[in-house]
Amino acid sequence: MHLHDLTIKKFHEGLLNKEFSVLEIVQSFFKCIKDKDEEIGAYLTLNEEEAIKAAEKVDLAIAKNEEIDILAGVPLAIKDNILIENLPATAASKILKNYIASYDATVIKKLKKAGSVFLGKTNLDEFAMGSSNENSAFKIVHNPYDLKRVPGGSSGGSAAAVASHMAIAALGSDTGGSIRQPAHFCGVVGLKPTYGAVSRFGLMAMASSLDQIGPITKTAEDAALLFNQIKGIDPFDATSAKFDYAGDLLNPDLAKIKKLKIGLPKEYFEKGLDKNVSQGMEEAIKRLKTLGLKFKNISLPHTSYALSCYYIIMPAEVSTNLARFEGIRYSRINADRIRTNADNISVNQRSYQRKSALSEIYFRQRGQGFGQEAKRRIILGTFVLSAGYYDAYYSQAQKVRRLVKEDFDRAFDSSAGGVDVILTPVAPTSAFKINEKTSDPLAMYLSDILTIPVNLAGLPAISLPVKKYCLGGKELPVGFQLIGKHFQEADILGIGQYYERIED
Ligand code: GLN
Repeated sequence: MHLHDLTIKKFHEGLLNKEFSVLEIVQSFFKCIKDKDEEIGAYLTLNEEEAIKAAEKVDLAIAKNEEIDILAGVPLAIKDNILIENLPATAASKILKNYIASYDATVIKKLKKAGSVFLGKTNLDEFAMGSSNENSAFKIVHNPYDLKRVPGGSSGGSAAAVASHMAIAALGSDTGGSIRQPAHFCGVVGLKPTYGAVSRFGLMAMASSLDQIGPITKTAEDAALLFNQIKGIDPFDATSAKFDYAGDLLNPDLAKIKKLKIGLPKEYFEKGLDKNVSQGMEEAIKRLKTLGLKFKNISLPHTSYALSCYYIIMPAEVSTNLARFEGIRYSRINADRIRTNADNISVNQRSYQRKSALSEIYFRQRGQGFGQEAKRRIILGTFVLSAGYYDAYYSQAQKVRRLVKEDFDRAFDSSAGGVDVILTPVAPTSAFKINEKTSDPLAMYLSDILTIPVNLAGLPAISLPVKKYCLGGKELPVGFQLIGKHFQEADILGIGQYYERIED
């Protein structure tokens, strides 16, 4: 069995048929990572020793004829802003360079319970701020389809790892498009679940009202399997939700899927799309019609305000969430040294000097520990929340957020002949060149113009490759986005599962 051919489903069948052991596959993945990752840069940390132990455990269970979970032994890559106990969790920031996680995120606990294997932690834009992975403090990630291009961001490491067969599947996080946009750039599947569907406990908070963890996989079927395992209410996350899924996530019924009506919002097709993206959309629509799905033109009139609204709310939340990183906790600098300095000061000097010595430490550590983009957003966020500007910016943005959400509510309103699912491009272009947008933050922000409204509205959305792309081929991948109703992941995953069965 070639690593290229492995999906979660095929891996599980191969294990049951004794075609290979978990250990063999895990070792092949590490070999592949060692051969390839120098030029791609997808991983920040490898977890070889623990991965081998976890693999042996599953092999032993199989040898004893114990029943195993479908995710048992599956080699996964995890974005480095999600905590795995005893492994580094840097969020690709210098301020967390020496931080080792002291507990498992809820999603990790759930995957450990199923017996999944963690190959390592993947690269990202610092604290998940970015659209190209060029904001990582440690190294950039190269797109496996063209090494001169970016893999997208911020979950660029996870998407590149899956696309280049250095993991069967991965977890990413999506605040404004960070799962879907890299999936589109790298020719893989990326699911951003409904806000609240997956616990955020153990995900480093960036913009808490927008962040969600989700799967990056080779197929929609695998995305459904991973999502099914990680979803659900969690006492550690007050925003996580309990609900019954309408429809069957894992075995969608084609007769039901065919009845779904798909909306095409005109605002999303007016955004100066590159030719290959608009051709991709035509192709996707053509293929979906062969499944019998019906389309309707719709309008989401507040779409053009979503980006500005996001870049007020998002930095506001960033500025408060990142306040905890003062360079002393989470092990950036040697705490003993600081204590000794502080003790000396407290004995010898007056209290205001002590305070200023502490501020000095904060300024220095934050000044050196955060990269440019993190600083830009902290400053912007502090500004929009400050007295005198709060009403002019932050509270206005919250009102606009409601209007964006209400656009979707109207489009999905079944009592008014609304649609069930919305189809759009994922981004206006496919993967752009490394350094193409680094000097122009606004141009970079525009890459998320088509994914951000979904986060503002808390909806689920998936990015699916238009067709099967092959590494080493001439074509850059193009994905399309399907947006579903709240907690109706089954609809978008169901369409995805039938879509990928259509022959090229
Ligand atoms: N690219 C967007 C940003 O920079 C989205 C990031 C994300 O989804 N984590 O904020």
